[in-house]
Amino acid sequence: MAETTRAATMEKIVALSKRRGFVFPGSEIYGGLANTWDFGPLGAELRNNIKQLWWRTFVQRRRDMVGLDGGILMHPRIWEASGHVVNFNDPLVDCKTCKARFRADHLIEEKLGVNAEGKTPDELTALLKDANLPCPKCGNRTLTDARQFNMMFRTTIGPVEETGVQVYLRPETAQAIFVQYKNIVNTGRVKLPFGIGQIGKSFRNEITPGNFIFRDIEFEQMEIEYFVRPDEAPELFETWIEAMWGWIDLIGINRDRVRVREHAREELSHYSNRTIDFEYDFPAPMGWKELYGLANRTDFDLSKHQEFSGEDLTYFDQPTGTRFLPHVIEPTFGVERTMLMIMLDAYDEEQTTDVNGKADTRVVLRLSPRVAPYKAAILPLAKKPELTEVAWSIFNQIEAETNYLVDYDETGNIGKRYRRADEIGTPFCVTVDFDTLEDNAVTVRDRNTMEQQRIPLDGIVAFLRERIG
Ligand code: ATP
Repeated sequence: MAETTRAATMEKIVALSKRRGFVFPGSEIYGGLANTWDFGPLGAELRNNIKQLWWRTFVQRRRDMVGLDGGILMHPRIWEASGHVVNFNDPLVDCKTCKARFRADHLIEEKLGVNAEGKTPDELTALLKDANLPCPKCGNRTLTDARQFNMMFRTTIGPVEETGVQVYLRPETAQAIFVQYKNIVNTGRVKLPFGIGQIGKSFRNEITPGNFIFRDIEFEQMEIEYFVRPDEAPELFETWIEAMWGWIDLIGINRDRVRVREHAREELSHYSNRTIDFEYDFPAPMGWKELYGLANRTDFDLSKHQEFSGEDLTYFDQPTGTRFLPHVIEPTFGVERTMLMIMLDAYDEEQTTDVNGKADTRVVLRLSPRVAPYKAAILPLAKKPELTEVAWSIFNQIEAETNYLVDYDETGNIGKRYRRADEIGTPFCVTVDFDTLEDNAVTVRDRNTMEQQRIPLDGIVAFLRERIG
């Protein structure tokens, strides 16, 4: 069935995304806007499925979790308290000759093979000087020292720029949770340990984005801040590692391509006392890269917001009769990286023969039915009223009795329609043919195996339910 060698490359996923309407380059008819993307009809469905499944799994189905939908614009002091104004920087170097700009840490990692995370600009500059690296673009040895560049996007509230209030587009969703934590505790429905989950857009002025949708300047995060008694934090951190693995299984990812990497002490962010990354093995030349993060943020954020806002953010713990600032465990997931991983992991090519017996390659996205944009495609064999009528009635029945999104496709030859369904990851094709009019049954084709079986019309919904869930 699936090949052992990996069929997926980034180029193939980029091409398929464009061809089938998953991801389009942003502002394309205006010549594009670098590193921005729009999600087409199928991409929008895939993203919604990911987000809904995440919300259902981590927020709705857990008794210890509630949700929040915070704003993108918040009081600028929040970003001073969180440390983003001072610490949320990328170290950059410029080339004095060609004026190109690079991430100093990335340059060092790529060219010298040294892990540069957490190194100061001075340390990075020293490494660059020692190696006397040339500019990757023009080749001249004219790189500047590394300096810090803040990654938050700024904008102004108010009609006049000079007198308006400078605010930031949020670079992470987490801070809204800390800022509203007290309101949520006061509404009285949560007790430690509990978590608040949120899904929303974040913005980062990334200087070297790229690798398709892996690193974007505008992206979506699914984040949880899980509030715990300080002494429970190490143990609950472990349970979150397991929960995150559970999610990776749920969306159908091959565990062999995922690993956990523990951050070394010197690599830890200013707020964290333990961080692990879930990494995915992206196709060469990318290799292992961060997919998700899990951090123990201690009481860093609540204590900073308490200090900067002057509000008491302590929690009264009834069972122990004590008052303290909870510690926080943060599992964080990127929607775009999830989507990219899902498409890469599902992509497969099979050598087959076409209808004329010629050698052919079948491209198939073996998406988990949980996230697949369409759960089934209804295909009348020919565009004849007697067939399309039955096909539409099946379509309407599935729509009425399930919440599955179903495709209806009546154009082109059936082989082409199967190929399209395979390429967009539709798990089942339901074909209405002339026999249907006699035997009240349809042919259901399985995307993965291409096996076909005859299913009576009144058994289709049950058949799909059993396989899709
Ligand atoms: P990286 O080291 O790759 O820049 P990070 O450590 O800065 O990532 P976090 O701040 O931990 O990332 O963000 C949480 C999650 O949000 C990441 O694990 C990733 O899934 C996602 N994410 C972060 N930055 C981006 C981005 N620029 N584009 C797309 N997704 C992102």
